Amino acid sequence: MGLLSFRGGVHPPHFKEPTERVKIEKANEPKVVTIPLSQHIGAPCKPLVKKGDKVKVGQKIGETDSFVSAPVHSSVSGEVKEVKEKLTPSGEVLCVVIESDGLNELHESVVPKGDIENLSPDEIKNIIKEAGIVGMGGAGFPTHVKLSPPPENKVDTIILNGAECEPYLTADHRLMLENPGDIIYGLKAMMKATGVDKAYIGIEDNKPDAIKIMSEAAKDEQNIEVVGLKTKYPQGAEKQLIYACTRREVPSGGLPMAVGVIVNNVGTAAAIANAIKTGMPLIERICTITGKGVKEPKNLLIKVGTSFKEIIEQCGGYNGKPGKIIMGGPMMGLAQYSDEIPAVKTTSGILIFTPEEARLPKPKPCIKCGKCVEICPAFLQPLYISAYSLNNMHETAEKYNALDCIECGSCSFICPSKRPLLQSIRVSKREILAKKRKTK
Ligand code: SF4
Ligand code: SF4
Repeated sequence: MGLLSFRGGVHPPHFKEPTERVKIEKANEPKVVTIPLSQHIGAPCKPLVKKGDKVKVGQKIGETDSFVSAPVHSSVSGEVKEVKEKLTPSGEVLCVVIESDGLNELHESVVPKGDIENLSPDEIKNIIKEAGIVGMGGAGFPTHVKLSPPPENKVDTIILNGAECEPYLTADHRLMLENPGDIIYGLKAMMKATGVDKAYIGIEDNKPDAIKIMSEAAKDEQNIEVVGLKTKYPQGAEKQLIYACTRREVPSGGLPMAVGVIVNNVGTAAAIANAIKTGMPLIERICTITGKGVKEPKNLLIKVGTSFKEIIEQCGGYNGKPGKIIMGGPMMGLAQYSDEIPAVKTTSGILIFTPEEARLPKPKPCIKCGKCVEICPAFLQPLYISAYSLNNMHETAEKYNALDCIECGSCSFICPSKRPLLQSIRVSKREILAKKRKTK
């Protein structure tokens, strides 16, 4: 099959060279972990432990009764020092702080759960739920919820996202090279859980080695197809990936299940395999630490709760004074104002810019060149939505479908006047959603 793609998009420089050939390395054991009780989209967890409690690796330390949520588990064995609001990548969140005893004693619940062949679809979904697995590509949506579409949405296809279209990040690339078997295993578990018999693994063509290795790993699976995707940003965004692989278009305001598709990240598939094979919940992940602001860029296997500061120190520390720290990639990642924050289930990357790289150009007036409209993968008119947002005309911004913006940042990237397009569109989206909530 030829290279597949979507309409619109941009071509930012990749900047993946510093880490794309660097093998995944296990990070040093953290002495203290700060584990947020909300690392997902949905209801935050309530703590199941208190100060002074002894905990083991894989022990559940937070959960709720809410369906749209995911439990959290301890990534070390040791003693709970406090349960308190702490600064995390997404603001102040209730966290469990645990001092490690360095023994890494496993909790009794961490035992193999059987094999896909012998597990029922509901049992697989329950293992995924109990393991606290969420979308590891960045969104953090609870995976068991994604795998439980309502009966009116008949799902017939699963797509695994191996595009990793964000510049700098190489965690998924290395995972595909180093552990393709678990990705296939996890995908097969998802297919059984949902009764789906067709799956694609989409990988951008700037990773030919990953396409080759994943194709080899899937060669005996009749219903799993590895597809090469054109390298273009945001190829890994759900709607764009679905269009590239199936030519199905998710309607405005709709979810992938509206066109019979579920999309998951390759890292999520590997986490599912681990939860079934070993019983280990989601307590660690692969993270790319890179950018000119760090001395030795690496791909590290980090424990959830380890501080950014400790992780950066394991990469030789800062290269001079850091200008900007971003969790995730430069296009959709979240800027951080401190390195005293914990890595979470969705920390796919820690990007450190030098002060020169971090300096924002001064925005100039819009010259109506139309480039932002041309490249918007959601077919929006970013210049107008942004202008309405800047004038507090959020209702008009809504009429221009501001809520369909996938926040990919392509418009800001392409704009020759360096207008703060995404930034202002985000403001409108926030205002529109707040108003909708109030009306409800
Ligand atoms: S308007 Fe939204 S979806 Fe369109 S390019 Fe800008 S950030 Fe991406
Ligand atoms: S790309 Fe920038 S300058 Fe061109 S139309 Fe859009 S906002 Fe205006």
